[in-house]
Amino acid sequence: MNDELTIPPELAASIRDLYRRMQEAYDVVARQLDFSCQGCPDNCCNSYFLHHTRLEWAWLWEGLRALPAEQLAAVQRRAEAYRQQEQAALAAGRRPEIMCPLNEEGRCILYDHRLMICRLHGVPSSLTFPDGRRQQFPGCFRCQELVAGRDKVPTVERASLLRELAQLEQDLGAAHGLPALARARVKKSIAEMICQGPPRRP
Ligand code: SF4
Ligand code: SF4
Repeated sequence: MNDELTIPPELAASIRDLYRRMQEAYDVVARQLDFSCQGCPDNCCNSYFLHHTRLEWAWLWEGLRALPAEQLAAVQRRAEAYRQQEQAALAAGRRPEIMCPLNEEGRCILYDHRLMICRLHGVPSSLTFPDGRRQQFPGCFRCQELVAGRDKVPTVERASLLRELAQLEQDLGAAHGLPALARARVKKSIAEMICQGPPRRP
């Protein structure tokens, strides 16, 4: 039996639409700050993030499958090497700082299939909780330099985007007859998602 959590077409359309609106929200703030990645001496694809939905994991794999076989094999080798360095760093109590296996020559090779955190990284953002508390994310080092000393800093608010992503994760579960899927959260680096293959029924 194939127990892979594939994305039905209507859900694929929904995630594309959510990513498009994330990009719009990012662009609005970037324009207000006159911020872009052009000329940046850094490459933030070595930032360490964990990802929490099977939907984005499956979305990543849709992109991986479209790669030529040799390129996919090279990505998988880099992901294995990443995992070893990641585990060593975590065991030593350090935050890993390793180039993402999907970055080739400074560029993301799965740009259309990159995950939410990759899409929002850069400009300042915030997360407002239902009780009114607000968590702030200052953006990358370059953006922090840009906004230093400003009284008012525009931000991308993440709450509604995250809520939508959580709803789409539930929809993925429902499409596979797994109503509790969204509660069985995942917590994985991109390298781990690559090494483990596409997401399967828990
Ligand atoms: S997000 Fe910031 S650190 Fe990353 S490439 Fe763009 S400008 Fe550079
Ligand atoms: S998926 Fe792409 S954008 Fe995200 S960290 Fe990897 S190379 Fe960078």
